[in-house]
Amino acid sequence: MTEHLLPTYARFPVEFVRGAGTRLWDSDGNEYLDFLSGISVSSVGHCHPAVVEAIREQAGRLLHVGNLYFTEPMTRLADRLATSSLGGGVFFTNSGAEANEAALKLVRKNKQGGDIVVVHGGFHGRTYGALSATPQEAKQAPFAPLVPGFRAVEPTAAAITQTVDDRTAAVVLEIIQGESGVRILGDDVLRAARAACDAHGAALVFDEVQTGMGRTGTLWGYEQVGVVPDALTTAKALGGGLPIGALVTGEKLRGVFEPGDHGSTFPGGPVVAAAALAVFDVLDDDALLASVRAGGERLRARLEELPGVAEVRGRGLMNAFDLADGSAPDLTRRALLEQRLVVNATGPRTIRLLPPLLVSDAELDEAVDRLGALLAA
Ligand SMILES: *Cc1c(COP(=O)(O)O)cnc(C)c1O
Repeated sequence: MTEHLLPTYARFPVEFVRGAGTRLWDSDGNEYLDFLSGISVSSVGHCHPAVVEAIREQAGRLLHVGNLYFTEPMTRLADRLATSSLGGGVFFTNSGAEANEAALKLVRKNKQGGDIVVVHGGFHGRTYGALSATPQEAKQAPFAPLVPGFRAVEPTAAAITQTVDDRTAAVVLEIIQGESGVRILGDDVLRAARAACDAHGAALVFDEVQTGMGRTGTLWGYEQVGVVPDALTTAKALGGGLPIGALVTGEKLRGVFEPGDHGSTFPGGPVVAAAALAVFDVLDDDALLASVRAGGERLRARLEELPGVAEVRGRGLMNAFDLADGSAPDLTRRALLEQRLVVNATGPRTIRLLPPLLVSDAELDEAVDRLGALLAA
């Protein structure tokens, strides 16, 4: 531990030294059950052997050449991202926020001067464009002035339909709001957004940074909602623990960016791309995705039975529950320090559970039992 980190995070007094699958170990040798996955990153589990091997192999071959050239891992990953989703073009980034920055620039260039409609409760990252798309007072207010041209509305079909007009360049939203506590947008809201964008020549962008890569029980979250966006962003789980993000477009937006429009030194580098290809091999698997859906149902049913739980929400293995009181931060701390269970409070009342997607039924039950022990006490 150190005094030399700027205090942007209220860190817990735990230092992790090792991880394997759903388990973590701290510097005192304690073993933890991880139901957060580094915030939806370690979806293949910690140090998945295939991912570690891909990193090792590629690290000994080529680490970096930059984006003026092709490399085989980058080429294969672009193909895999596009063919598994919207079929258009890919722009690689180092993070989710950067993937959203790329999406914002893309839709602005596509309809120059246009507004971008976002919804309350949404979260798209901490850089200026992504923050401007994140209409949360506490996160935005200290950093004004923000990027102009964003319009925030309630996440309802009526509000979106009323707000989107001929000046709208895009609607950008998460189909399930992760940082706001796993708030599922209704299919009617997503259909209204699609219809409004179509009626006014705007682009529909889904931020799948958290919902993507199998988290909700299909490779992409949009596959379950009956609405196809014009572009999506992904990051978090994509690199299996290494930093990588991507903007993926459909056909319509494929030709918007031209040489010189956007760029970055590192993205899509050989090592992160090799890791992501190994992650795809694990997660883009029908049997695994079926087990994510079944595991989610099992987890939610068990959580419903816990004392003091007011509401359970989720899809696949992206879940949260509300407590009747404001004890979620305290419960998170006690889960970590007393029960050696890693969970996350998204607010005073809400606990979010994002286990690795390879979690077993026994481990799902074990996590609920550990939470139950705390809630009953
Ligand atoms: C985490 C997250 C981001 C930001 O990603 P970073 O890699 O932290 O920049 C953006 N959108 C959503 C939906 C997220 O969950």
